[in-house]
Amino acid sequence: PILVSLGRVGKVFANGVTALDGLDLDVREGDFLSLLGPSGCGKSTVLRLIAGLTEPTSGIVTWPGSSDADHRGEVGFVFQEPTLMPWANVADNVWLPLRLRGVSRREAKDRIAESLALVRLEDFAKAYPRELSGGMKMRVSIARALSVRPRLLLMDEPFAALDEITRFKLNDDLLEARRELNCTIVFVTHSVYESAYLSSRIAVLSPRPGRVVAEIAGASPWERS
Ligand code: ADP
Ligand code: ADP
Repeated sequence: PILVSLGRVGKVFANGVTALDGLDLDVREGDFLSLLGPSGCGKSTVLRLIAGLTEPTSGIVTWPGSSDADHRGEVGFVFQEPTLMPWANVADNVWLPLRLRGVSRREAKDRIAESLALVRLEDFAKAYPRELSGGMKMRVSIARALSVRPRLLLMDEPFAALDEITRFKLNDDLLEARRELNCTIVFVTHSVYESAYLSSRIAVLSPRPGRVVAEIAGASPWERS
């Protein structure tokens, strides 16, 4: 079943830049969908449209299987910058989205621990962001996004700033976490390697204006088995 559908979507910004024009894309339940394409082709804009953080200028974004008009609650977002609160420890950073939904620290305790275990950070709940490596901060950022158990996880070049070894470890741990939670992922990258390794499906975007020019099958190990 289709989770989110973008139909003939166009996006023109106030400065006159046409980021997207006539983009068609379906995100299916269970997909690990990579959006692959050069800088500026509109990949981040597609994620922001799916998240409801911005509206299309033309065309339509729909969630066919759901009648609820506001889907932001079902979406987790991970950015290239981990954007952690420096004054809060790891556990309290992971709590944040739950707290915004009115879940108390006590009620959130188990969920926080489970989320940290998903990214192999169970021993770092009391650490502060400044004590962590870049890879570990990204792990916290992923645990935070997963803490609400989103139906859809959107990731915008999450590993682009990391060294290759850290990146490869995170690729494997992300696949593992996804298998555990069974959540749908849309993953933005300009690494052909990463898209092939992680994805069940790859949508290739072309720039000026951005649209999907090819869809190909990925080679994720979980899809093969
Ligand atoms: P990508 O994620 O593929 O690098 P983006 O979606 O960030 O691409 O941007 C697509 C195009 O839209 C780029 O040309 C970018 O400069 C432009 N753009 C993105 N956001 C804005 C904005 N808020 N205002 C004006 N132009 C923007
Ligand atoms: P990652 O691959 O997640 O970036 P690193 O390669 O930076 O992790 O670190 C490898 C391991 O070293 C971590 O999983 C952790 O067990 C340990 N480590 C890293 N930074 C610290 C720290 N500040 N305090 C304690 N242990 C750490």
